[in-house]
Amino acid sequence: MNMAGDVSQSQDFIIVGAGIVGAMAAYRLASQGYSVLLVDKGPPGGQASRAAAGILSPSAESGPSLPFFELLQRSFLRYPALTQEIEEASHMSVDLDRCGVIQAALDETEETRLQSLYEWQKDRIELQWVTHAEMSELEPDMKHARAAVYAPKEMQVHAPKLVQALVRACHAIGVTSRFGVLVQRLMVQDHRVWGVETNQGRYFAEKAVIIAAGSWAPSLVADLGDDLSLPIKPVRGQVLSLTADTMPMRHIVFAHHRYVVPKPDGRLIVGATEDDSGFDDRVSADGVATLAGSLNYFGPRIRQMHWDTVWAGLRPMAPDGLPVLGPWAGWEGLFIAGGHFRNGILLAAATADIVVDWAQDGTMPPEAFRPERFARS
Ligand SMILES: Cc1cc2nc3c(=O)[nH]c(=O)nc-3n(C[C@H](O)[C@H](O)[C@H](O)COP(=O)(O)OP(=O)(O)OC[C@H]3O[C@@H](n4cnc5c(N)ncnc54)[C@H](O)[C@@H]3O)c2cc1C
Repeated sequence: MNMAGDVSQSQDFIIVGAGIVGAMAAYRLASQGYSVLLVDKGPPGGQASRAAAGILSPSAESGPSLPFFELLQRSFLRYPALTQEIEEASHMSVDLDRCGVIQAALDETEETRLQSLYEWQKDRIELQWVTHAEMSELEPDMKHARAAVYAPKEMQVHAPKLVQALVRACHAIGVTSRFGVLVQRLMVQDHRVWGVETNQGRYFAEKAVIIAAGSWAPSLVADLGDDLSLPIKPVRGQVLSLTADTMPMRHIVFAHHRYVVPKPDGRLIVGATEDDSGFDDRVSADGVATLAGSLNYFGPRIRQMHWDTVWAGLRPMAPDGLPVLGPWAGWEGLFIAGGHFRNGILLAAATADIVVDWAQDGTMPPEAFRPERFARS
């Protein structure tokens, strides 16, 4: 067991899961003066979180839902100051890179979809419509695109470094942690959650237990009765990375449901599949073939790059694809921070704000994201 800090006394909050969501919530709660215990069955860094490409793009990820777009954008705006603060506290760089995001239309259907996306987003964020003729200038390897939407201010981070930096920052401000410790069940009595029972003993929470356990969250609330369900399931994402002496892309580019992400360290990440494979987080031959088959979307030079590696992670997804944020109705002392699916890196900042607001004065998250939407009637 890897441990930091003394937990002989109960903490204000216990957070189950030291991925991006749990680590960010721990950091922000501790910054507000709360005592926090962060527990993970594995090493710090999460499961999905260590696989993520690190894209921070409200424009590409929001879909048609306005509340979701607003949540993404709210989180996005927090990033520059927050990452600077985390870098200072951890003495680590998280490689925040304002590279901009292009969504390229390679056929008429995508051009139509992007046109309507552009129409409703353009008054809300900085966005440009890019014509076929203008593509050669903006991203020469995408000059075959019919048109594109360009968000020049959108960014990326190095996701594994960000979680590592957060955990360091947590320890620097007094968060206690237990890694390699499995939370087996919640300790409950009289509709109140008192703490967690683990394979290494019991830990008590004065205020609440926060479930930030990614794809594993449902098993932790399964015993709480039939009124609510937490239908989060894993969706495997596979990504590969390539290297080259000269990077062919300057921007993050989305095309035909795939993306490429030029990393400041010289790798180009190509992602990502969405596989229904249960809790199997291994790379599949089919996944590699799918990603390799999509290289053609991104121009000629990408095919000349060198193979680096391939990996996979399990995104936690609710049936409506939206995050699940809020206290568990009918129970005191339990908060869910899960279901972040494709955008947990981006959404971690807003999620942590929502957790802190609830901790401070009971402010409820927007209705669209609350667990009650999965109430059994
Ligand atoms: C291939 C891929 C690419 C992605 N790219 C992006 C991207 O570019 N931008 C973006 O914003 N998002 C991206 N995502 C999504 C993002 O990674 C996830 O939404 C996010 O990481 C979820 O974070 P989490 O902390 O909830 O879960 P996780 O990172 O999975 O962490 C959950 C943690 O809980 C722990 N845990 C579970 N059960 C228990 C238990 N009983 N006891 C103790 N510990 C427990 C686990 O060990 C794990 O460490 C990507 C995901 C994948 C897979």
